Amino acid sequence: MRIILLGPPGAGKGTQAKSISNKFSIPHISTGDIFRKNISEKTPLGIEAKKHIDKGHLVPDALTIDIIVDRLDNEDCINGFLLDGYPRTVNQAEALETILEEKGIVLDTSLLIKVPREFILSRMTGRRVCLNCGASYHITFNPPETDGKCNLCGSSLVQRADDSEETVSERLDIYDAQTQPLIKYYGDKNLLSVVDGTQAINGVFESICSILGEIKK
Ligand code: ADP
Ligand code: ADP
Ligand code: ZN
Repeated sequence: MRIILLGPPGAGKGTQAKSISNKFSIPHISTGDIFRKNISEKTPLGIEAKKHIDKGHLVPDALTIDIIVDRLDNEDCINGFLLDGYPRTVNQAEALETILEEKGIVLDTSLLIKVPREFILSRMTGRRVCLNCGASYHITFNPPETDGKCNLCGSSLVQRADDSEETVSERLDIYDAQTQPLIKYYGDKNLLSVVDGTQAINGVFESICSILGEIKK
């Protein structure tokens, strides 16, 4: 199974990605998680990426595409993968197409988690994340079992610097301008499935499973 998750920041991509990755035994590849790991380790990539991420801007395509080229070369991707947060521009989508063509593989679908703008701000300002394993929680909608600790690995949860109210609005504008065109891009290729992301977390997952179940047949 080779899948892309699309949707605005805060749509629930990371949350659903964890469950999809478990159920279908495919690696969850999140460019945002890769950048955050590099930022916390202060690597040259992390230092460069942080300048853009903190402002709510996209990291330049050249850097981002290189990361994906490398990651998809890893042998855990042989039987499939789930991309979360990549591609975010048409240029990145075209680069992905070239990479997959070279490997002789095709995408099964892109899944758009559709959530209107008015739902997003409360989701993002209440988000708490685990920098160790990438799990995402919400102080009201999906609280961890133990306050401030990750259910999966026990690490402390943090609020992302780019989840402030001002940065969220900038990120949503950038999504509309640069990432939204991917809906038509994949729609035109007949590679788009749409899920109602305003449902509760379990409801969204059930909708996704029914779509992926159809594709697997
Ligand atoms: P969210 O979960 O809010 O959608 P991510 O964790 O996917 O955010 O990404 C966090 C930030 O990392 C983005 O706002 C952007 O600055 C950067 N980033 C992640 N993926 C990409 C990408 N494919 N292209 C450019 N920048 C990216
Ligand atoms: P994304 O990766 O698309 O930016 P996340 O998966 O990190 O989004 O979810 C954003 C925030 O919204 C998190 O705090 C998460 O717990 C919460 N969330 C995710 N899905 C739902 C949902 N269906 N209903 C309510 N809150 C949700
Ligand atoms: Zn964790």
